[in-house]
Amino acid sequence: MILTDTHTHLYSEAFDEDREQVIKNAIDKGIERFFIPAIDSTYTQAMFDLKNTYPEHMFLMMGLHPTHVKENYLEELNHVVEMLQEHQFYAVGEIGIDLYWDTSFVKQQQEAFRFQIRLAKQYKLPIVIHCRDAFDEIFEILETEKGDSLFGIFHCFTGTLEQARQAISYNMKLGIGGVSTFKNGKIDTFLNQIDLKDIVLETDSPYLAPVPFRGKRNESSYLIKVAEKLEAIYGVDIEKIAAVTTANSKAVFGI
Ligand SMILES: [Zn+2]
Repeated sequence: MILTDTHTHLYSEAFDEDREQVIKNAIDKGIERFFIPAIDSTYTQAMFDLKNTYPEHMFLMMGLHPTHVKENYLEELNHVVEMLQEHQFYAVGEIGIDLYWDTSFVKQQQEAFRFQIRLAKQYKLPIVIHCRDAFDEIFEILETEKGDSLFGIFHCFTGTLEQARQAISYNMKLGIGGVSTFKNGKIDTFLNQIDLKDIVLETDSPYLAPVPFRGKRNESSYLIKVAEKLEAIYGVDIEKIAAVTTANSKAVFGI
């Protein structure tokens, strides 16, 4: 059984004390593929270090996270462009719009999102979308950018069934993580109406730990808890969940 964590910030400071052990814990449980979303240029070196230490397991993305779109966002986007020119990445992400934390840069967030979607198309890469309190704004842009060259993952999907179907209509897989195990997470109530072929697994570690670790630091090894939840939702065994969602991740990332 091979599971794929399609979204894990393993370079985060939260793992500085025990990163090696955290990665070993995951690999021991069959989680062997880790897709690493970018945040901003301050983390780029740490991401390369991770990849150089575990070249068979780590697959990097490049992008500017919406909550890090600030005064210097043009410089940051330039960094993304340069990195894409010089190195291999498997997605442009995480990118999107976040109106939960701060709305003062909404225009710049929209501009950065569209710019990075076009970069992804240029490099024939998937996008990995971060959406918080911004479904309308995200869908508005996807609607104008849709087509065969637009594809990717709607990371940490927390919307309604209707929003799920709309995301899938833009060639997006739904990234399902710890929220599916929360009592008030809601997505568990309709997920069985979404085809398993449209789903990938993720932890978003160190954030959003699944039950029974909710509120604690999340780790990629806890992806098992998400896979077990999907076993219950879909009524199939964990080997099948692993096989289908890992195949889905390969279809998106091309590896
Ligand atoms: Zn993330």
